[in-house]
Amino acid sequence: MGRTTHAIFLSLAAGYLLACGNLAVVDSQPEHSAEPAAERERPNILFVFTDDHAPHAISAYGSVLNETPNIDRLANEGMLFTRTFCGNSICAPSRATILTGKHSHANGHIDNGSEFDGSQETFPKLLRAAGYQTAIVGKWHLRSAPTGFDHWEVLKGQGPYYNPPIRSAEGTEVIEGYTTEVLTDMGLDWLQNQRDPDKPFMLMLQHKAPHRRWQPGPRELGMYDDVQFLEPATLFDDYEGRSSAAGMQEMTLRDHMSTDLDLKLKDPGGMNPEQLAAWKKIYDPKREAFEADPPTGDDLVRWKYQRYMQDYLACIEGVDHQLGRVLDYLDESGLADNTVVIYSSDQGFYLGDHGWYDKRWMYEESLRMPFIVRWPGQTPAGSNCDALCQNIDFGPTFLDLAGAEVPDAMQGVSLTPLMQGESPEDWRSSIYYHYYEYPAVHMVNRHYGVRTERHKLIHYYQLDEWELFDLELDPDELTNRADDPAYSAVRAELKTELTRLQELYGETDPEGTVDRIYPPKKDA
Ligand code: CA
Repeated sequence: MGRTTHAIFLSLAAGYLLACGNLAVVDSQPEHSAEPAAERERPNILFVFTDDHAPHAISAYGSVLNETPNIDRLANEGMLFTRTFCGNSICAPSRATILTGKHSHANGHIDNGSEFDGSQETFPKLLRAAGYQTAIVGKWHLRSAPTGFDHWEVLKGQGPYYNPPIRSAEGTEVIEGYTTEVLTDMGLDWLQNQRDPDKPFMLMLQHKAPHRRWQPGPRELGMYDDVQFLEPATLFDDYEGRSSAAGMQEMTLRDHMSTDLDLKLKDPGGMNPEQLAAWKKIYDPKREAFEADPPTGDDLVRWKYQRYMQDYLACIEGVDHQLGRVLDYLDESGLADNTVVIYSSDQGFYLGDHGWYDKRWMYEESLRMPFIVRWPGQTPAGSNCDALCQNIDFGPTFLDLAGAEVPDAMQGVSLTPLMQGESPEDWRSSIYYHYYEYPAVHMVNRHYGVRTERHKLIHYYQLDEWELFDLELDPDELTNRADDPAYSAVRAELKTELTRLQELYGETDPEGTVDRIYPPKKDA
């Protein structure tokens, strides 16, 4: 196929979408084959999962801020999914959705305050029944004890960045060290010394990093101190024209990010004397410079943004470096050839975009999840997939990789055909979203919505306000077209699609879900 044919193919693909796989593969003999699971050796699965790692802080996704060579290695040797979204952009619900393959309202875990009902059917239980060894090391964040795992060692709650208490079936033990490294050591120890080598494994290695309050490890302290980061175009967004919800939140760098705690003009606790000494060497001069000439107004926002990025991105460097250790181990041990490695994170995050940090909104920066898969012999190396995927698909994918049946009750579908470079004709053309945690920290109003290839419709139902964005013309989502007559037909179509998704996923009374999960107190 020549260049011209490629161009035609590309324009067709853009029209119909769903073209997965590197187009270069079309030119040559594909190196992979869509071999049925039953006929190949069942692969091990290593799911490396971080907390709050936005795709726009990964160089494989085009980050203008940092380099992530080990995550990029997975993309170069595998497939990068460009449109993977969460269904509810917040930590614990995303994890519950992954375990159950169901949206939040269907698994009952709608916010960070809930306790996960571990008696539910989850993919680890089904993998275990199919003969896999299942293990989870790291952030769990679901309050109840993990179920369905042969081995679990998890952080208590959010877990600290230094010297984490680790909870297991045997009790709780504090492990000295930097958490990203401690968890990697524990994961490697299980792989090397504890698992049964005669069974395939599923290991979920789940980091706390780069969650707030963004404390870099000893290796990464100060690494970005001389870097001036590019500011996002929307750092000084005034939210004009959008729902009043956008102006009502409490997650701006300007007013809500704390200089003392978030940006560490005070020493964070929890470090031993040696760790604290290394810490002070880097952070004391920052504090002294700030106190000598404290910035104000827009200058303070700019100062906060730079400080925030120094710490957030240094935490990501820690994750990337530790991932490199794990990939090296897979190579050295010979496990790499039959291990599917996936890198993902529970949702996206605002890196000063719209003047914010945190997540929660259905806007792109927090809706998107990184999702990169290396499946040796199956994913075309260096390929991209633009199909619309969601975290409800992860559990079904893991089961399908193992050749196990995906229960009908799971709402997601297996991504394995996409991973193998196929483009199923009946793939979904929209995704559903619902955020519930309000009133609560950061004060983001409840909202549900639908996103298609090109458009997004959001309903802030407590305010009865709508937003409609044309992502092709307005990728930063600054122009609300909900009341634009030119978009009235689009709005009607999106509304119909939204209702269809709510029926499909069984959320037929979406505005009553919170009351269903938390019935109002009778005497209140
Ligand atoms: Ca998170």
